[in-house]
Parts: sequence; C-alpha cells; structure tokens
Amino acid sequence: MRPLVAHIEESALAHNLAQVRRYAPRSKVIAVVKANAYGHGLLNAARGLKETDAFAVLNVSEAIALRDAGYQQPVLLLEGVFSADEMTLVDRYHLDTVVSHQAQLSWVLDSAPNIPLRVYLKLDSGMHRLGFQPREYAHALQQLTSSANVRELILMTHFANADVADGTAAAMQVVAQVMPASYARSLANSAAIVQQAHTHADWVRPGIMLYGATPVAEKSASSLGLKPVMTLQSGLIAVQQIAAGDSVGYGSLFTADKPKRVGIVACGYADGYPRHAPTGTPIAVAGHLTRTLGRVSMDMLAADITDIPQAAIGSTVELWGEQVPVDDVAQAAGTIGYELLCAVTARVPMIVTS
Ligand SMILES: *Cc1c(COP(=O)(O)O)cnc(C)c1O
Repeated sequence: MRPLVAHIEESALAHNLAQVRRYAPRSKVIAVVKANAYGHGLLNAARGLKETDAFAVLNVSEAIALRDAGYQQPVLLLEGVFSADEMTLVDRYHLDTVVSHQAQLSWVLDSAPNIPLRVYLKLDSGMHRLGFQPREYAHALQQLTSSANVRELILMTHFANADVADGTAAAMQVVAQVMPASYARSLANSAAIVQQAHTHADWVRPGIMLYGATPVAEKSASSLGLKPVMTLQSGLIAVQQIAAGDSVGYGSLFTADKPKRVGIVACGYADGYPRHAPTGTPIAVAGHLTRTLGRVSMDMLAADITDIPQAAIGSTVELWGEQVPVDDVAQAAGTIGYELLCAVTARVPMIVTS
C-alpha cells in the first residue's frame, strides 16, 4: 500500500482544548469543527474534544452527524440556516442557530419550534461579511427578545483583524455601543483568544488552535503552547542520484549545481499538498529536516536527501506534524496552516491514535 497517511492524535486535541481554557479561564468553549474539523475528520475531532461546552459547524448535515454520534452539547450553526425549511431540523436536532440578516430573523420568528431556541444574534462590527449593521441591531434584538420561539439570546460578532495587535479596538467600540451588557456574548476566535484577552466574554469560538496550528502569523504554534494534531506522513518510493546540471520534476524547476541524492516522496497535490510549495519547503526524511526540490506533482514530490545517507526506499517522510510545523510549510507556499489542513483529500487514509 502507498505509504501516505494522516495520523490524528486525539490527545493533542484534548491538550489544545485545555490550552484554550488556560487562555480564557472564565469563558465557555464552542469548539469549531466546520470543514470536516479543519480536515481532521468531524467525528475524530469530536472525540478528542468531547470535554468542550459546545460545538460549531457550518451545515445542518454536520450537526446531525454529531447528534447521531451521541453528542449532547449545544451545536451551533455558524452561518445560521440557509432556508426556512432548515428550521425544522434545527428544532428536531436541538441545534443553536445564528441570525445574521433579516430573512434569517423572519425564519426564526415564523418557525414553530417544539422547544424554544438558543439564538446567536450576529453584529457586523466592521468585517462587512455577515451580520446586522449597528443601526439595525437593536431592532433585531428587540424582535427576538419578544418572540416566544427564543429562550436564550447570545450576542455575537466576528473580528476581521484579531491576529494583529490592537486589531479588535475599533470593533470592540462598536460592540460596546451596540450590545446591551445584560446579554451573554461570543466574540473571540483563536487569534482573539491568544492575544486579545479583553474580547473573551462568555463564549469563545476556537478553531485553528484546537488543531495545533497558529492563528497568528508571527507566533509559532508551539510558542502558544499548542500541539499539532495531524501528522501527514509518507515514505520514499524511489531514490535518484543526479549529477550537476540534472533537473528534477515537471518544468525542470530545480537544477542541481553539484551531485545530489533525491528522494521521491509519495505525496502530491492530489493529496492536498500545495502545488505552490517551492523548492526549499521544509520536509523531514528519516527524522532529518531537509527541503523539497522542484515542482510538486499530482502524486509525488522530491526531497533533498544528499545529507541523509541512511535515507532509502521505505524511509519515513513527514510532510507536516511535530517536526515540520504545518505553518512553516504554509508559509513557504504562501498560504496559512488552515488551508493546508482543510485541503487534505479523501484519498489520504486517516489513522486515529488516542
Ligand atoms: C471559523 C470560525 C471561527 C474559528 O476561527 P479560527 O480562526 O479557526 O479560530 C470562529 N467564529 C466563526 C464565526 C467562524 O466562522
């Protein structure tokens, strides 16, 4: 069998959840498990995060999968429902929903839930993506407050710039002006959890930090006390000895200036490895840190093993994980850890260790 596999370490999820609680000791935690738990497998992640106070997902189908697996915590639909008929499922599966615009507000007010709902009312605090405008917010709040369909209201916003110092100042001013202090609030994503303590409030919404990647470009995940959950591991399937002037891979993007040993790794962009990763992207072979060479192909990529004489066919390769932070690979490829984790494709087998 092809040696490529994604190892998922359940205990690292629990560790990172505990780390969230250390950063935000007075807040309850909504573990964000959207996008197949950032590529880790929804139910794999849920097991590692079972001590969370709540989960958040994007689609009703993910919420139902959590319910079917037996999870009884609140499950929040981060973008609310996408049509009025989904309100029936919100009721049947006891889901929490976001209300971010007038149509969603009407769907909640016009639904007939058997049990009144917990609703998150979303404010646009400056990101201009989702949420009521500050001038509309009080009216929406009043309508939900006076509806018999609603048993609990949590006031919510999402920051555009929590990853930069002072990046939440303007948004927090809007929050202070618009959100009455008598309601619970949910404001902070991972970046705000690790470096904007004044935003923590009642419910924090960590995503990326639970998976052990950094939410803040200038700070490594390990410096934030986070442990990688996914190790993308493969092996060498061929070894080439090339001479000075020889090239490697499509487009001959890398040409050796002296004799080199090249290891061919069973992992390519069809597995989710970024095709944009240039020569020099970090990778570990047989436990030694080295670099990729040339262009990433669909099913393979090349690594420099000139200084790793023990590397041979079958040697273990770490694409990212404990030794090669996913954030370092992302940085080399001009993206963020989030995108790489989410992009691991279905053909990569996952192995969960507890
Ligand atoms: C995805 C998401 C989060 C989690 O963000 P991270 O940066 O991964 O912590 C929090 N809140 C909302 C509304 C989201 O969509």
